[in-house]
Amino acid sequence: MYRRVLLKISGEALSTAERPVCFEKIEKTALDVKKLYDAGMQIGIVTGGGNIMRGRDTVAQDRSRMDNMGMLATAINALALQDCLIRLGVPSVVMSAVPMHRFCDEFTARGAVEALENGKVVLFAAGSGCPYFSTDTAATLRALEIKADALLLAKNVDAVYSADPKKDPNAKRYSHLTYRKVLEDQLQATDLTAITLCREQGMPILVFALKEIERVAAGEAVGTRIDGTEE
Ligand code: UDP
Repeated sequence: MYRRVLLKISGEALSTAERPVCFEKIEKTALDVKKLYDAGMQIGIVTGGGNIMRGRDTVAQDRSRMDNMGMLATAINALALQDCLIRLGVPSVVMSAVPMHRFCDEFTARGAVEALENGKVVLFAAGSGCPYFSTDTAATLRALEIKADALLLAKNVDAVYSADPKKDPNAKRYSHLTYRKVLEDQLQATDLTAITLCREQGMPILVFALKEIERVAAGEAVGTRIDGTEE
């Protein structure tokens, strides 16, 4: 059972093919967050922005400007998720890596830890505040800064596999992996920068399906745990 976690929620968990910002899905995700909250966990959340804008998907445009747009997208998602959390009665605060004082607080690690200790869910907006990074890397940074027990990567697959299980029926499902194995076998758990930082700092990662969050809240072993423990 984790005491304090950093939950990364991708933009795709907040959108449908027709609607990039879908409040039905955001409400559902907020209910999932509430399950962790009701289990007594301190929760920091990094929202992705890929449902609206992903810098690396653009070709002809200036990458850093596109990444800035991506970071703004993560802030839209954080505000939308906060709106749903408020309606569920879950206290929360949005903290942005890029100052946006009209919309939310500015991120400081100390402020975030204080808010967590006061029972608030902390939503981290604008990723790391720097272009050329992903929100998975930003989530790793925040997990380290708030001294989380683990980085929870909520995905739409239930674990890390040796290949895409939808395409390869022989794909092996892992319940445990080392950082080394993920890197050596180039497994699709998270991006290279994030996994390297987790490895350097010994931050455990749990990759799981968002729909199984209740089991995470109950302290069950779900998904794939990635850490430095060799078998
Ligand atoms: N981004 C960035 N720096 C960061 C985090 C995010 O520049 O520290 C930008 C980048 O363009 C990225 C976009 O924001 O593509 C949205 O984040 P991401 O692609 O990680 O979102 P997800 O795929 O998880 O929804």
